[in-house]
Amino acid sequence: MTNPQHHHHSLARCRTLIAQLNDYLDGDLPPDLCAELEAHLTGCPDCRVVLSTLNQTVQILHTLDAAPPPLPADLEARLLARLALPSAPAPDEP
Ligand SMILES: [Zn+2]
Repeated sequence: MTNPQHHHHSLARCRTLIAQLNDYLDGDLPPDLCAELEAHLTGCPDCRVVLSTLNQTVQILHTLDAAPPPLPADLEARLLARLALPSAPAPDEP
């Protein structure tokens, strides 16, 4: 029997469940495994983050109908440049 009072979850358990998240999101996971996975998610913030991220990715992919996501290289470059900037004044300031 699993002790519901456990404080530290098994990483192997997380990995197993995370491997099933794709099927879970696709609705391909059997109901009993769904319940098991959801029960684990209830007590595992780490896996909830993974699920949330994966869910968003899946939603985007479904929205785009399997089209490659348009990643603006310009935006990424600007974000990286901004992150790399020290606390210097904005270059476009008058
Ligand atoms: Zn977990």
